[in-house]
Amino acid sequence: MVQSRSHRRHQDINVKVGDRFPLTIRRLGVNGQGIGYFKHKVCFVPGALPQEVVVVEVTAVHPRFLEAKIHRLRKPSRDRVVPRDDYANIAGGFELEKLAYPAQLRFKRQVVLDSLEKFQPYGYRAYNVRPTIAAPHEYGYRNKATFQIRMVDGHVAAGLYKAQSHDLVDMAECAVQMPATMKVIRTMVKLIEELAIPVYEEKHNSGIIKTLVVRESRATGELQLTLITNTAKLPHKHQLLDAIAEQLPEVVSVMQNVNPGDTPLVWGDQMIHLAGEEYITESLMGLDFKLSARSFLQLNPEQTETLYEEAAKALELTSDDQLVDAYAGIGTIGLSFANQVKRVWGMETIPEAVEDAKQNATLNGITNTHYEAGTAEEVLPRWQKEGRHFDALVVDPPRTGLDDQLIEQIIKERPTKFAYISCNMASLARNLRRLTSVYHVDYIQPIDMMPQTTRCEAVVKLSLRK
Ligand code: SAH
Repeated sequence: MVQSRSHRRHQDINVKVGDRFPLTIRRLGVNGQGIGYFKHKVCFVPGALPQEVVVVEVTAVHPRFLEAKIHRLRKPSRDRVVPRDDYANIAGGFELEKLAYPAQLRFKRQVVLDSLEKFQPYGYRAYNVRPTIAAPHEYGYRNKATFQIRMVDGHVAAGLYKAQSHDLVDMAECAVQMPATMKVIRTMVKLIEELAIPVYEEKHNSGIIKTLVVRESRATGELQLTLITNTAKLPHKHQLLDAIAEQLPEVVSVMQNVNPGDTPLVWGDQMIHLAGEEYITESLMGLDFKLSARSFLQLNPEQTETLYEEAAKALELTSDDQLVDAYAGIGTIGLSFANQVKRVWGMETIPEAVEDAKQNATLNGITNTHYEAGTAEEVLPRWQKEGRHFDALVVDPPRTGLDDQLIEQIIKERPTKFAYISCNMASLARNLRRLTSVYHVDYIQPIDMMPQTTRCEAVVKLSLRK
């Protein structure tokens, strides 16, 4: 049986680039591509939706799968909608814009189920995976724009790269962004062009302006603009700053970040304060947070409150709880819960973020929090050695999930209340394999933080197994 299946998988199906054939799309892959089967071989078709019948044209033949593009849509899905912007079909990151929103929410729940099926943590078939919580706004939610600046056809262009390439798509609009962030980007494009400030060019590592980062506070409407540059020198700086002050009065903070050379990292080490304040202030859960240009904040502030409220529900905190806020960022989660518990203990690897967390505690008059710089896997065992005991734990790791050492420590300490906030269902499902040796998965609550994208978030409530 196994043999015949692998035989079938490897048999030559005699298909070549340029071939066309009709294909029924069965489902969406994690990256939002349509998936169909051509003579038992997986065929990925970007832009095609489940239940659609498409005539595809093969674009690449691999030993185990095919890639193809839509040649003609024979039978469109009932969930197919017209994307708001034409960039949705070319720039990476908006793969679901053509899928009706209720279907996007079902897709995100399905990603959770597929990841569980793949990693099979203990008892996974019985997990209560709830329907995805919708975002209140499907567009205009994103508080930060990080747009590359390049010359395209002799003009300054600002946008994102085409999927899997370094070709810039000049984006005059971007419907998922908060409108004011786009106004700043487009005004800056005009000013950079008018003042003829040299724009970065990768091939010769020449030019100056590489990237614009604009972040907006939903609560105050304040905007912060950061110019990421190849050199500290910024020609026509004073004319530029005068024009920004005049044309973009809502920009209260202008920063420069120097990031020399052709590097995959967006940010360099050197920050220069150009004009206005160094911070903008955002409010979440009734607290104020000062944001410096580089500090992390969730990208959908409106839905962040829902995410945190779900974490609070999962934790069922009480006033004598000692709570650990692991992967704390600027402390938004722990500080939001501080008035419900005895004490909050947080750790985070980026020292500036830890400083922000401490300042934010002071700013809000919170005195029962303790934040330290360090990795969760190093700090938590140390705290245990120092004799501290924890009742509740919230983890919010990056896409890689929890470090194995941290998982071992959690299993050793067994906090009774445990909420896992995940932004990657694969690492979550993998981590649950180990965690379920002592924890029971009460439920998984998917939450849509990023409509139109394939990104999924979830809050998992875990309790000690009886
Ligand atoms: N809880 C915060 C931030 C979550 S993002 C919020 O809701 O805004 C994840 C954070 O984990 C980042 O700030 C990152 O710097 C930090 N981080 C990454 N690896 C870590 C580790 N091993 N230990 C502790 N923090 C880590």
